[in-house]
Amino acid sequence: MFGKILIANRGEIACRVIRTCRRLGIRTVAVFSAADAAAQHVILADEAVPIGPAPARESYLVIDRIIEAARATGAEAIHPGYGFLSERADFAEACVATGIVFVGPRAAAIRAMGLKGAAKALMERAGVPIVPGYHGDAQGVAELMTEAERIGWPVLIKAVAGGGGKGMRRVDNAADFEAALAGAKREAMAAFGDDKVLLEKYLLRPRHIEVQVFGDSHGNIVQLFERDCSIQRRHQKVVEEAPAPGMTVEMRAAMGAAAVAAARAVDYIGAGTVEFIADVSQGLSADRFYFMEMNTRLQVEHPVTEMITGQDLVEWQLRVAVGEVLPLKQSELAINGHAVEARLYAENPRRNFQPSTGRLLRFRAPAPDGDLRIDSGVAEGDVVTPHYDPMLAKVVAWAPDRATATGRLAGAMGAHEIAGLQSNAAFLGRVLRHRSFVSGDVDTGFIPAHIKELEPLRSAPENADLAFAAVALHRRGEAGAGALVLRQQTNEMTVDLVEEAGAYRLGLSGGVVSVRVTNESDGVLNILLEGVAQRAAVVHDGKTVWVARDGETNRFDLVDPAD
Ligand code: ADP
Repeated sequence: MFGKILIANRGEIACRVIRTCRRLGIRTVAVFSAADAAAQHVILADEAVPIGPAPARESYLVIDRIIEAARATGAEAIHPGYGFLSERADFAEACVATGIVFVGPRAAAIRAMGLKGAAKALMERAGVPIVPGYHGDAQGVAELMTEAERIGWPVLIKAVAGGGGKGMRRVDNAADFEAALAGAKREAMAAFGDDKVLLEKYLLRPRHIEVQVFGDSHGNIVQLFERDCSIQRRHQKVVEEAPAPGMTVEMRAAMGAAAVAAARAVDYIGAGTVEFIADVSQGLSADRFYFMEMNTRLQVEHPVTEMITGQDLVEWQLRVAVGEVLPLKQSELAINGHAVEARLYAENPRRNFQPSTGRLLRFRAPAPDGDLRIDSGVAEGDVVTPHYDPMLAKVVAWAPDRATATGRLAGAMGAHEIAGLQSNAAFLGRVLRHRSFVSGDVDTGFIPAHIKELEPLRSAPENADLAFAAVALHRRGEAGAGALVLRQQTNEMTVDLVEEAGAYRLGLSGGVVSVRVTNESDGVLNILLEGVAQRAAVVHDGKTVWVARDGETNRFDLVDPAD
């Protein structure tokens, strides 16, 4: 095994790789930008090397700096994590050229899967089902229009160099085609410097189901079953689970075989994911799933696979990278129970999910155990900057059955106490408790279809939030008795506070309520509100008070009456 490796990444995935290295006795080198000098991955690693200013283009994406950091520290291998340089064939080549092991596939496999059109053609030759469509060289409007008519409306235009949903347009009829094509090409050129497109039949009820594959340098390839990632917001995964709800033994076998064939077609080595789209307009069916793309790296959502197989996929990556054979054969792999992951983001669901930045004045997650795993890249006190992906943590629950795992995860989302910025914890809790999700009735349109029920129920603060804020400000000495004006974004609310006999009477817009504080410890306030027990974490920041309750975060600013 390696003695020392460098991790060319940050955040939760860098921390997660370091943990496995520590267990295997491998020393770790972190790299960090100017914005990350005190980040968790830097604190956790044995050594850390600065690689440039905050913008990723000037630090985490600069191949030469990372290779130089590996050389300077004597790292034998580089783990790229996901994102950043993980799918850059030139990075894999640069490692090899310097005598450093790239923990991932060979550059040729990355390249073969890098362009959607070429990858589809390769898959078609390998006998892997692909979405009906056109991925030829012709790019003229008339030729593409003819192909679109042949495929049948609606069609999806995709940039061959695409990623992150860019350069993608759904077209419902011939009249809209030319304008949509021009738009997709313009967007693709701007994002990827390549305006080539392909056409696909647009599936009306698709599920995103992907298969984890693993190859070694001895020609062995196995698949570690599927993950369902259909719960997406703007084509970004939000909740992932394994196995896929409703999956049949027959369909799993067909998808697993197709995924292995895809990996074999590029002599795949290391961890990879073959993404399929399944047409579920008539339910899951073994003859209606199609190859979408192969991601030549470890995925964000790999923990659900680890939990149902009992394997550590980073350990597998490292073993394969040193030239060992795969730790298990296909016949030794089995699914045990069910795992669900939710991606906790620093974002504001009340403001169209805009990223939310700032200092994490409070960041308390429920205590992990064997069945609840939390992969986090930040800790209380850290600053979330606008420079990188705003994911705070991945929260993953395992149980023998799906309903129990889902319930456990929903409870864990509500138990998060977050102050200093906004998060989607409560939103995720509502997704996980939604009756359609609970019954396994999922497709990629789930969030838009149910958005009314998933939107913050508490878009306006409840009496309890106001009561916690007013009482906390009073106890802190920030506010006296009488009328307190609390501002939340642009709304101002008045609370009339009267203290008598160790309790409070609060005049709110809906009437007068009684509040008695029963306990206060470690930032958590327990109150009786009209005799009903309530608890919230309350964090003070001058005239600002944050109330965190049931996974929701409410910020109130005390308005000075003199202003
Ligand atoms: P990108 O690489 O830009 O993320 P993908 O090809 O991976 O694009 O597709 C992203 C998402 O778009 C999929 O997970 C799915 O939700 C949707 N999608 C892709 N292809 C189709 C299709 N043919 N029909 C309907 N939806 C699709």
